[in-house]
Amino acid sequence: MKHDPSRCMHCGACVNVCPSGALELEDTLLIGDGCRECLACAAVCPVDAMGCEDEV
Ligand code: SF4
Ligand code: SF4
Repeated sequence: MKHDPSRCMHCGACVNVCPSGALELEDTLLIGDGCRECLACAAVCPVDAMGCEDEV
């Protein structure tokens, strides 16, 4: 996954929905090694800040 920090408003929705607990919200959103590219975070993000490499 790729994350666009300029769009992210730290709502935490992606962190709550990630089935592998790969996301951590700190000063910026951190994507850990557990990411399985399931795209659940991208589907729930209200500002499209999460996406595949080509999309962000
Ligand atoms: S793609 Fe899936 S596994 Fe990866 S960070 Fe997003 S919700 Fe978590
Ligand atoms: S759902 Fe989107 S806006 Fe909300 S914390 Fe995650 S990346 Fe940021």
